[in-house]
Amino acid sequence: MNAEIIAVGSELLLGQIDNTNASFLSRQLAEAGINVYYHTVVGDNSSRLKQAIEIAEQRADFIIFTGGLGPTKDDLTKETIARHLGTELVSDDEAMESIEMYFTRVKRKMTENNRKQALVLKDAHVLRNENGMAPGMVYTNETHMYMLLPGPPTELQPMMLKYGLAAIHTKLERPAQIVSRVLRFFGIGEAMLETEIEDLIDSQSNPTIAPLASNGEVTLRLTANHELFETALSLLDQTEAKIMAKVGRYFYGYDDTSLIDELSKLLAEKRLTISSAESLTGGMFQQEMTSRPGAGSLVKGGVVCYTNEAKANVVKVSKETIENKGVVSAECAAELAENTAELFNADIGISFTGVAGPEKLEGHPVGTVFIGISIKGRPVRIEKIQLGGNRESNRIRSVKYGCYFLIDSLKDSQDA
Ligand code: ATP
Ligand code: MG
Repeated sequence: MNAEIIAVGSELLLGQIDNTNASFLSRQLAEAGINVYYHTVVGDNSSRLKQAIEIAEQRADFIIFTGGLGPTKDDLTKETIARHLGTELVSDDEAMESIEMYFTRVKRKMTENNRKQALVLKDAHVLRNENGMAPGMVYTNETHMYMLLPGPPTELQPMMLKYGLAAIHTKLERPAQIVSRVLRFFGIGEAMLETEIEDLIDSQSNPTIAPLASNGEVTLRLTANHELFETALSLLDQTEAKIMAKVGRYFYGYDDTSLIDELSKLLAEKRLTISSAESLTGGMFQQEMTSRPGAGSLVKGGVVCYTNEAKANVVKVSKETIENKGVVSAECAAELAENTAELFNADIGISFTGVAGPEKLEGHPVGTVFIGISIKGRPVRIEKIQLGGNRESNRIRSVKYGCYFLIDSLKDSQDA
């Protein structure tokens, strides 16, 4: 099967955006063993798009379109294709339902052109859009296969991975099992992680390895495909093992989990209770912990001790520490952690004290944070971190680091 990718959009011709959809699709098709011989870019213009289709039909048997499935006037991909193929557009019930639900949810009135987004080519196989409104589709006639995908990469990529490739494999009569797995890392930057596993990313095609960074975390999505589900799984296992050998110490969980989830699981497993004394995080740790069902048996309580006064009077940080060492100090973090555990009669006390910003504090630069971890029967652990973000991200990341260090402390102990 030979393919051609037609990207539709005047923005592409004007150089305002890069045609990353074509590169993404080409990589996926190469892996599926499909030759891509041409990339075409055409503006939002019906007659030029028609010409592009006619040319593509002479040199490819599989034509993939991206863009122009939206609700506005310049979105004319499916209308043009329908006219060209002599078929009509019909409303897809499932797509219409999800569009209606969206408008009900955001309490906005739906306009007539939003209905247009639910239109699909008659007799097409519909590809669900789980990240937007316009569905994709695959249409087949005696001579060609046409696939229509939405322009936004955040919609196109998951649609292709989840439904598009499967449709192609079905067409090729070699239904493939596509299995993916997300590995989550913390405590390592994206650039560093990518460098560590560069050779794997470069040499690997099945599974593919796709890194993504957000909020101080890095994830790797591994996607394998094979006719046999078991083989696809074992391909994932093999690649995961290679990745773990290099950066396993930063790994904390799979798929949709979070650091707080992993911490909660560990605490529950070990039947440990926790309390916190929070200065710069202002209760964020408590908020995160208690937002999970089952928190009742893990969380004893906590203190937001934002002022020196609260640290001294409520959590009993010694006058000497506050005066001589300051509140942004290892000593203060240690006393906060130990005393909060005692105050709430919890097995673990965790503390957060530092400089969220925007101003310096006690001569420490913005982003200096001390985290104290006191686990019953063990010496208190203090971690100093230096964050580089703004106030909000420093607070969020402090909580994540706290979870990360505590998970680490709990994992390497059999006794706790
Ligand atoms: P929408 O419903 O958002 O209008 P659409 O399917 O109509 O989606 P377009 O209107 O063509 O798609 O493009 C929407 C956005 O998707 C563009 O502004 C751009 O950010 C992105 N996009 C479109 N085509 C490409 C492409 N070939 N490569 C990368 N990004 C693209
Ligand atoms: Mg559009």
